[in-house]
Amino acid sequence: MQQRHRVVVIGAGFGGLAVARGLRDERIEIVVVDANNFHTFQPLLYQVATAGLGGDEIAYAVRGIFRRQRNVTFRMARVTAIDIATRTVELSAGPPLAYDTLIVAAGAVSNSFGTPGVDDHAFTLKSLEDSVALRNHVLGTFEAVAADPTTASGSALSVVVCGGGPTGVELAGGLMELFDHVLAKDFPRIDIGTARVVLVEAADRLLATFAPKSGARAERTLTRRGVEVITGAGVHSVDATSVLLTDGRRIEAGTVVWTAGVRANPLAAMLGMPLGRGQRIVVGPDLAVPGHPEVFAIGDIAVDADTPLPQVAQPAIQGGRHVAAQIVRRLDGRATEPFRYHDKGSVATIGRHDAVAELSNGFRLSGTLGWLAWLGLHILYLMGFRNRVNVVVNWTWNYFTYDRAARLLTEADVDPGPGDEAE
Ligand SMILES: Cc1cc2nc3c(=O)[nH]c(=O)nc-3n(C[C@H](O)[C@H](O)[C@H](O)COP(=O)(O)OP(=O)(O)OC[C@H]3O[C@@H](n4cnc5c(N)ncnc54)[C@H](O)[C@@H]3O)c2cc1C
Repeated sequence: MQQRHRVVVIGAGFGGLAVARGLRDERIEIVVVDANNFHTFQPLLYQVATAGLGGDEIAYAVRGIFRRQRNVTFRMARVTAIDIATRTVELSAGPPLAYDTLIVAAGAVSNSFGTPGVDDHAFTLKSLEDSVALRNHVLGTFEAVAADPTTASGSALSVVVCGGGPTGVELAGGLMELFDHVLAKDFPRIDIGTARVVLVEAADRLLATFAPKSGARAERTLTRRGVEVITGAGVHSVDATSVLLTDGRRIEAGTVVWTAGVRANPLAAMLGMPLGRGQRIVVGPDLAVPGHPEVFAIGDIAVDADTPLPQVAQPAIQGGRHVAAQIVRRLDGRATEPFRYHDKGSVATIGRHDAVAELSNGFRLSGTLGWLAWLGLHILYLMGFRNRVNVVVNWTWNYFTYDRAARLLTEADVDPGPGDEAE
């Protein structure tokens, strides 16, 4: 019997899932490989970091996603090498995987741009582990100061968020709410005024990829809610207790979060091809790697040099669907078609009751309407019915009570911070 065509998909993110689902009716064998056995809904990582949601509410088991799709199998393993000549992928666990078609959809990682001290002392917000580590550190610092106020400096509770894009804005707004509405009540003996949230952006405004009006609105709303917004000054360096800005100012803080940039997952280099902007895999118009029609790259890890797309969910999802269709065309002996991206717009929440949503036709929503649009979209795209129900219940509870359920901390959760050695 002739062996089925085997498609190996690296990454169960937005792009990888879209490819596998797009091939659901085909007589093809699909193997999805991911280092984790779950898909992470990254747009809500900041909610986990600020104790609004639990980690399991924004993640979904890959095996559960494909339970009814019989042509998919899953391998939980880290990809350690790709051999384009022999068409094999080496894995951290189990035998290598041979492929007929390879989809590289391993996403992006944080990029410190070589800023001194960032890799050693700053938290990042790219994965579920990152968001849980940040939440535990913030809550753990409050517990440490409550246990012994004399050991903590006045700035131990302060957080500096580096990067005023959507992630930085959402995180700063979420942290301020956590401090003012939850931790202020949980820790009545702590002067919550010493817990500053400072948002630093090198450009002269927030939300650079949105209209100037939206950036200005975000700055006004955050400032009104108590976030200290600094624009026009970059981060020069970070050490264990402070951030030094390029204008010479130093901000003391017990927690520093870096959301100022991403680059392609280092896995991109495994193809042995020249890389493009942000170390991304350069793809042709149909999203295949030049000279290798059997290898496609999609989402955050890929770039079409002529039409670079933003590293957000929609290019990954649409790219995944496109690649699924191209695989079918190739197997039918037809030529592949170029990918056309349909920009649906962008949305960023600034906190309770406030968000900015910009649609591709120029229509703009802000305030409560923008916030409702943000809520609806996130619930719609969240994976799994149980997660959607849990998130709606949790958000409704948080909304009316100003409470946050996801703030349990065990002894083992309290980490001294990035780069610091545990005793
Ligand atoms: C904090 C945050 C907030 C965001 N907010 C928004 C938003 O509001 N709206 C929006 O549109 N976009 C948002 N984004 C961006 C969006 O999440 C990404 O653009 C999108 O996830 C990219 O999809 P992808 O399929 O390319 O990669 P990802 O979704 O990142 O998936 C990559 C997968 O590859 C796996 N992987 C990585 N390396 C390996 C390896 N070596 N071996 C095996 N598996 C591996 C990972 O575990 C992961 O599951 C946000 C991102 C972050 C970090």
